[in-house]
Amino acid sequence: MKTEKEYDYLIVGAGLFGSVFAHEAKKRGKKCLIIDRRSHSGGNIYCENIEGINVHKYGAHIFHTNDKEIWEYVNSFVEFNRYTNTPVANYKGELYNLPFNMNTFYQLWKVKTPKEAKEKIQSQIDQLSIKEPSNLEEQALSLIGTDIYEKLIKGYTEKQWGRSATELPAFIIKRLPVRFTFDNNYFNDKYQGIPIGGYNKLTEALIEGVEVRLNTDFFENREEWESKAENVVFTGKIDQYYDFQFGQLEYRSLEFEHDVLDEENHQGNAVVNYTEREIPYTRIIEHKHFEFGTQPKTVVTKEYPADWTPEKEPYYPINDNKNNETYRQYKELADKEEKIIFGGRLAEYKYYDMHQIIGSALKKVKDHFGA
Ligand code: FAD
Ligand code: UDP
Repeated sequence: MKTEKEYDYLIVGAGLFGSVFAHEAKKRGKKCLIIDRRSHSGGNIYCENIEGINVHKYGAHIFHTNDKEIWEYVNSFVEFNRYTNTPVANYKGELYNLPFNMNTFYQLWKVKTPKEAKEKIQSQIDQLSIKEPSNLEEQALSLIGTDIYEKLIKGYTEKQWGRSATELPAFIIKRLPVRFTFDNNYFNDKYQGIPIGGYNKLTEALIEGVEVRLNTDFFENREEWESKAENVVFTGKIDQYYDFQFGQLEYRSLEFEHDVLDEENHQGNAVVNYTEREIPYTRIIEHKHFEFGTQPKTVVTKEYPADWTPEKEPYYPINDNKNNETYRQYKELADKEEKIIFGGRLAEYKYYDMHQIIGSALKKVKDHFGA
């Protein structure tokens, strides 16, 4: 049935969530308008081509998932390469493999077998008396012992989050595998890779044929935008949507310093983490290695964690108890809405990776359209 409004869906945010929703709605014959306050689509997975290299403008993005359907879904829009993330950690000039595996244990203690490594870690854990880990520090210590915590986790974590590891939720460190094999793959997932030609290929294919207006902030003209469509899909900050009535949610921000270097290969790896507290950035990304590039120049990006203020980009939700409780109040309001769908890292206030965003968007599509 034709509606009276100009569009069926106004989609606020041209990131991955908004793009998947737009694609699925269009496929079902719906007319969508996407708005985004940035000057480009793609949200945080946007790439800019510099010197022939796809530069991940908002930090390194590696696609990984265990879900075959999600893998097939993204591959139906763009082909993925065989990139496997194997970051290296630099602690005071010493290099260690990540995630924590037999290579790391050998580099730290010269242990050569899983049995020796387990004994070493267990002897460190036995010195502590942590029963139920209640924060990131306790979780890390009881998982991997003191040496790794001190050299590879504490400094990185505290600069990344701008607070003590004792004030952070334990789940964050569980993102990293610990394994007793010589395997430097940062992820355990079955499927992994980078879109050949960059992430814009994926997001542009998703929103093909959908009207997009850039440099357009929903909150600058909220009533007008809302009046244009029957339904709204909102992927911005949920606390802002509800005028901060239960208080502000907290976020962590980042600053990126991009440099073009006149050399072919700067660090020999896409990702090098700097795990000591004293170095102000957390990682240096050398983008060409995501796509096995052979260009004569290279582009590197230093990633500096930063306090979030309303003028800055809210890159990470801070899912501690206090913020989760505030979010719960907003979610209660959101659940009562009939014409508004909230989705994505900001509107669901969740530390979601790309595959989880796609999973969430496809689920919301299914719940909304019924198939
Ligand atoms: P976003 O990409 O943030 O899109 C939201 C869009 O909404 C933005 O474009 C924004 O401009 C727009 N918007 C917000 N408010 C308004 C408004 N008021 N009006 C108009 N537009 C608005 N995931 C992985 O799977 N692998 C990785 O390796 C990985 N690495 C990451 C590294 C970093 C540094 C970061 C920050 C994230 C990383 N992620 C990674 C997560 C990934 O970026 C997210 O899961 C995904 O991009 C979130 O998509 P989204 O659509 O929810 O949000
Ligand atoms: N982390 C760490 N040392 C590292 C890499 C990660 O202590 O060298 C911790 C840190 O707390 C970080 C978390 O593990 O926030 C998750 O790391 P991940 O690489 O998944 O972070 P993201 O890419 O999402 O920023």
